[in-house]
Amino acid sequence: MHLATELVQLGVGYDSKTGAISTPIYQSATFRHPALGQSTGFEYSRTGNPTRQVLEEGLAGLEGGCRALALASGMAAITAVLCLFRPGDHLLVSEDLYGGTYRLLNQVAVPWGLEFSLVDTTDLAALAASIRNNTKGIFLETPTNPLMKITDIAAVVALARQRGLLTIMDNTFMTPYLQRPLELGADLVVHSATKYLGGHNDVVMGIAIAAREDLGEKLAFIQNTIGAIPGPQDCWLVIRGLKTLAVRLERAQASTLELARWLAEHPLVTRVYYPGLPDHPGHEICKKQASGFGAMLSFEVKHAELVEQILHRLKIISFAESLGGVESLITFPERQTHAEIPAEMRLKLGINDRLLRLSVGLEDFNDLKADLEQALAC
Ligand SMILES: *Cc1c(COP(=O)(O)O)cnc(C)c1O
Repeated sequence: MHLATELVQLGVGYDSKTGAISTPIYQSATFRHPALGQSTGFEYSRTGNPTRQVLEEGLAGLEGGCRALALASGMAAITAVLCLFRPGDHLLVSEDLYGGTYRLLNQVAVPWGLEFSLVDTTDLAALAASIRNNTKGIFLETPTNPLMKITDIAAVVALARQRGLLTIMDNTFMTPYLQRPLELGADLVVHSATKYLGGHNDVVMGIAIAAREDLGEKLAFIQNTIGAIPGPQDCWLVIRGLKTLAVRLERAQASTLELARWLAEHPLVTRVYYPGLPDHPGHEICKKQASGFGAMLSFEVKHAELVEQILHRLKIISFAESLGGVESLITFPERQTHAEIPAEMRLKLGINDRLLRLSVGLEDFNDLKADLEQALAC
């Protein structure tokens, strides 16, 4: 089956009793045992729920992993993965990182005894030089958020394997439809399912997927033990969202490429960050390791004063956090998603007071362009 078919068919045939095409929502906290020592396969919904199981098995298959676990949010999924490590362990992390992940590492994981260093993972020599005796893993985002830097996943995996480190990928921006890091040798993938997997700006959820059974079992133990699970209604929403993932991404990334080209020519735009543009430094690597360039772009405007004007004037594109939904959203990373990152680090990376990040949705391309055009007009 092609991935697009696998996505649409998710859950079909699960309910053999009634033949329901749509996966039933098993709104049950607990499950009756047929007799002593017998089980239907379900006992208690923290441990396992049939609706959640359809989602988890579907995602494990889509990412090419052996086990997927659904958690209450993307941050809960990343927390579950961090629970695989021990006090004293050190992680190497992409420096241009989702702000919430930075906050989790810095304010929760470090006080618990984990150590981490931010590194430019696009620079393999710098990455290799940052490995310490206690380094246990590399946590990557590619493309990064919000600067769309591209890391060569296979090259990082080769280094990690040589040094006995786990490779963890936050694949939120690309989804398994465009990029499958486990097939490139990564050990773990995490997602904010709030974004493209759910796809409709109506649910918050996270997914952790393991390449190997030992890691999958540990994660399942952590999921059941910490208990940060999503409810069956939310699992159903993500199952429904996944069915249209292929068409949503194809449409959104086609519009994104056109918008990136148009913005690059705009006199008030000084820079466009989109890996689909041939002059993007990661263009060739992205082409090699992914089947598309995604539907996220960032751009820098000429004057800081323009930012407020744009955010105020946009009518169709909403000024709101998040990404990956059918509705287009724009954010101001310096003040929103990346406010947690120290100012010095932000400036070094290029997250300045002129940078805006756009999540391109499914509205008509001409309407999106016209909306940006009037917002940018002097
Ligand atoms: C949103 C996001 C997260 C956090 O996910 P939540 O579902 O909001 O908890 C993590 N990583 C990336 C890349 C994100 O965009």
